[in-house]
Amino acid sequence: MILPAAPTVPTVSTRRTEFLPFSPPLIGDEEIGEVVEALRSGWITTGPRTKRFEADFAHYLGAPGALALNSCTAALHTALITLGIGPGDEVITTPMTFAASVNVIEHVGARPVLVDVEPDTLNIDPARVERQLTPHTRAIIPVHFAGHPVDLEPLLELARGRDLAVLEDAAHALPARYRGRLIGSGSNPVAFSFYATKNLTTGEGGMLTGDAEFLDRARIVSLHGMSRDAWKRYDKGGKWQYEVLLPGFKYNMPDIQAAMGLWQLRKLDGFEVRRREVVAAYTRAFRDEPALETPTARPDVEHAWHLYVLRLRPELLRIGRDQLIEELALRNIGTSVHFIPIHLHPYYRDKYDYRPDSFPVAYSNYLRMLSLPLNVRLSDADVGDVIEAVLDLVRTYRR
Ligand SMILES: *Cc1c(COP(=O)(O)O)cnc(C)c1O
Repeated sequence: MILPAAPTVPTVSTRRTEFLPFSPPLIGDEEIGEVVEALRSGWITTGPRTKRFEADFAHYLGAPGALALNSCTAALHTALITLGIGPGDEVITTPMTFAASVNVIEHVGARPVLVDVEPDTLNIDPARVERQLTPHTRAIIPVHFAGHPVDLEPLLELARGRDLAVLEDAAHALPARYRGRLIGSGSNPVAFSFYATKNLTTGEGGMLTGDAEFLDRARIVSLHGMSRDAWKRYDKGGKWQYEVLLPGFKYNMPDIQAAMGLWQLRKLDGFEVRRREVVAAYTRAFRDEPALETPTARPDVEHAWHLYVLRLRPELLRIGRDQLIEELALRNIGTSVHFIPIHLHPYYRDKYDYRPDSFPVAYSNYLRMLSLPLNVRLSDADVGDVIEAVLDLVRTYRR
């Protein structure tokens, strides 16, 4: 029998004096100044700054177009409606994601079909996707977990010649490349998140990229189903007339948020440099520790490093994941878990009769994963504190 280990009392040298938050945003004077200008400009909802943010974002990715929305969830929902997906349809996605990726499938009345993940990347396994295709399958929502691009080519290949859309959840994948191409630069719909913890933040916000004709329709879906948006109606020379073509949603991004996005986008490449430095330091420190498994990056991708997901080798440890998180918190290190797999949540578990081992790869990895602080505000000393605390605990509890 294995006795649970008692918490170790952190020594002075292994305990930071201040709590290190998991993922605080880095907002500079430029963002603050631009927001203030937007507030003073007389135009605070969707308008010139949102249009500029869309153009800059599309230009950055080399995307055919971009539609700014108030969340990634809104972008995914808008895309499914625009694709005409609804009751009777099936949409394939991964259990290793945030609830939003699957909730939107329920929102449109379609059936989510979960497919287990690959053991290395924890991304949806394309080989298993093919086996789940039915005549009702209308879309696949691959999620670029932690910022590591999904193996897209086999999925796009499945979609070719079928009435099947590939709608990417790229909430973590800004900026990321798959086989040399930036995620979001293609013609299929791709949804990004600018939530507070994401690589680029507007507080709340999202972007949908895709081809121009698709985005024209998505724009209508995302704003009451109206044939023209407020900016065009109230601007100089604008007409008061509009038509409601369908009962659309209220998902537009206001200029106050776009003001932040304009500057966050300009800083993104610099942010990414720092994320990679932190990742390199973590991996250097942890890769030779047998009880730890560091994240992989396949040779044909550029990882966006939204998350640093460390996995434990439980057979080599007398401490579980949950207790390790508690011990790290005692040492003032904030961590998190991405994600509690979808099939464990009561709504999905009960509705679709899932058991924990319905998706054994997602489940077994969930039990041994934790996300370390990874953000651009981390100093070298902070990174050193995280490394020291993790290694100290792992060595204390090694079998
Ligand atoms: C954050 C996140 C979302 C939701 O993004 P919002 O902008 O908060 O709606 C969707 N999918 C994944 C994988 C996420 O991490």
